[in-house]
Amino acid sequence: MLVIAAVIVALGMEERAFSSPRIHLLSRMISQGELAIVKLEVKQGETPVLRWLDREIYMVPNDRKTTWYGIVAADLNAQPGRYPLLIKVLPGPWERTLEVTVARKDRGVRRLKLPKEKVDLDAITMERVKTEAAVMGEILNAQPAAPLWRGRFLSPVEGEVVGPFGQASVINDSPRSPHSGVDLKASLGTPVVAMNHGKVALVADQFFTGLSIVVDHGGAVQSMYFHLDKVLVNQGDQVKKGQVIGLVGSTGRASGPHLHLGVRVNSARVDPLQLTTVSETMEQP
Ligand SMILES: [Zn+2]
Repeated sequence: MLVIAAVIVALGMEERAFSSPRIHLLSRMISQGELAIVKLEVKQGETPVLRWLDREIYMVPNDRKTTWYGIVAADLNAQPGRYPLLIKVLPGPWERTLEVTVARKDRGVRRLKLPKEKVDLDAITMERVKTEAAVMGEILNAQPAAPLWRGRFLSPVEGEVVGPFGQASVINDSPRSPHSGVDLKASLGTPVVAMNHGKVALVADQFFTGLSIVVDHGGAVQSMYFHLDKVLVNQGDQVKKGQVIGLVGSTGRASGPHLHLGVRVNSARVDPLQLTTVSETMEQP
């Protein structure tokens, strides 16, 4: 104590009473492909800065800037283990490290039978798929903008789950990449709404995903809407939470009308429906 006081005096810093922020993190354990909301209560004028898995967790404040929310997310294939969550409150010097565990989760396997020509691609289609993957990758890995999202995330359609998130995929008996979104059943033409405020980062017609929209919610949160019949927004548009952005279809490689919904948080592929559930606890600004 004496040493700390001496250092403060030596640096000429003004001594003030630091009070600890209140940290709410319901679970210190996150399964692969899942997320948790972290809530911090600080004093006006203080700003929380959080890091986990070498990335900043972008924090969204309430109107008075005393309650801040962030999303701690683990990718579908995140290495199980214990990882430090570093929490600082600026202007400092308060800081603390919590350990958050990523647990393994087995989500099962889905076996699909698809027409041969939709699986074994010719050279031209292969080239197209590669280019499209590069375009999507660039959008998904872009430098995060400031958070535009506020409060809870909505489900874009109210449909039964016909393709669960995270299942390993075996198509015509060969293993493929896991299902990185959730398939929601809905009839052709059902309106699809934006999960939260954001900016339309991509509108494209791709081989696998068909008519597709990516909404960038800022703060490294993105949502993806695939196999649409119609797109009702343009790339670059600002969209509001709940705004109709497209209509359900079966474009691209789809066996019938449904919405494939994907969510990325800090590049982690996470369960979109879990985001809608856990975000319900957030105060609406
Ligand atoms: Zn899907």
